[in-house]
Amino acid sequence: MAQDPTTLGGTLNAEIVADISAVQQSGLLDYRSEELPTWCPGCGYYGITQALMQALADLHIENRNLAVVSGIGCAGRMPFFVNGYGFHAIHGRALPVAQGVKIAKPELTVLVVGGDGDGLGIGGGHLPHAVRRNVDLTYVLFDNGIYGLTKGQSSPTTPTGQVTGSHPYGNPDRPLDAVTLGLAYRASFMARGYAGKPHELYPIMKQALEHRGFSFVVAITPCVTFDKVNITYDRLRESWVPIPDDHDTSDLGAAMRLALSDKLYYGVFFREDRPTFNDNVEDTSGKARE
Ligand code: SF4
Ligand code: MG
Repeated sequence: MAQDPTTLGGTLNAEIVADISAVQQSGLLDYRSEELPTWCPGCGYYGITQALMQALADLHIENRNLAVVSGIGCAGRMPFFVNGYGFHAIHGRALPVAQGVKIAKPELTVLVVGGDGDGLGIGGGHLPHAVRRNVDLTYVLFDNGIYGLTKGQSSPTTPTGQVTGSHPYGNPDRPLDAVTLGLAYRASFMARGYAGKPHELYPIMKQALEHRGFSFVVAITPCVTFDKVNITYDRLRESWVPIPDDHDTSDLGAAMRLALSDKLYYGVFFREDRPTFNDNVEDTSGKARE
């Protein structure tokens, strides 16, 4: 509900009032519920939320046609903060629930959110199957390389050697790379962005929401509370490189070479149009009716 910013407090200066007015007029608040996010101050999730809200507003997706499905973890709280339908599923099971939502209500825009632990650890077995079926979902993996909600244990994307709550002598395991996995599974839309640059993440989100099929967006995001050494704003500020303009997004091999490069590329790696899960269900139903 928009509130007159001049009534919010006597100490607000004109610049802050103008900022608040701009946010109110942007339409972004239409996608926010009245619940205030409970994430730590400085968490990258605010930037991801900003990018998502902006993409939803740009596409004029109606609140009654939006469903947000999450698993467990800090990212799992997202449905509470969005003005739309929401389902906070059990750990690692966001994708199966979301597939059920999409098959029952194909008219909905179904957004799936979750962390690296939820999506690549507990729920890691669901990802390839949702991808290969090309279920028409937008899956945003909030990758902070740590289990944040449970207070800083190593996750599937924690780098080798990083000291964490579960590995005080350093994580001995090799990390997974979500982009490489998504390409190997052949997600029909594969992209990566950075929470610290929401204005660059937003057009990626918009393309992902517009894509018909499984859109997989890996959003690299600092956990400011439990990771002071790896995914930090200071470290990532300079290391992001946009995918070159001449990259052919229909070339899976080229996409994989970018993903395996030492550089941290952001943008759209790969996209292709192919029948979705709902298309195939319709097709099978038609054949059965005949
Ligand atoms: Fe964000 Fe980490 Fe705090 Fe969770 S624990 S809300 S991921 S900063
Ligand atoms: Mg995490």
